[in-house]
Amino acid sequence: MDDMYRDYILDHYKNPRNQGELEGATNSYSDSNPLCGDEISMALRIDGDRVADVRFNGKGCAISQASASILTEEIKGKTLDEVKAIDRDHILENLGIPISPARIKCALLSLKTLKGAAWGLPAWPGEDEAKARSAG
Ligand code: ZN
Repeated sequence: MDDMYRDYILDHYKNPRNQGELEGATNSYSDSNPLCGDEISMALRIDGDRVADVRFNGKGCAISQASASILTEEIKGKTLDEVKAIDRDHILENLGIPISPARIKCALLSLKTLKGAAWGLPAWPGEDEAKARSAG
């Protein structure tokens, strides 16, 4: 079981989906995880309330890049409400292997750049909701 999941991550790492530049992007965001040296830029083309298209570029460890690849496949065509509902637990489930605390930021960098692109939120997933609540 573990091997299958590892292959799944390596496959996304070696053959990333939706990688490259996005023509007509409406939203973009870049961020990095200095703890590991991961970098991800994500570009969205938002059409109405939907993510019409998405591309990412990045470099870094397999977990960070596979997480981005899996996430871009998932959000294409989704509504912004559906994208908003994606949380850290969902990302960790997508990866399918236990992620050690040291690698959590690797796994979540894709979600952070996605939410930064969509809503311009600079905080880590989870922190942004908390801030929004405290700001009313
Ligand atoms: Zn990493």
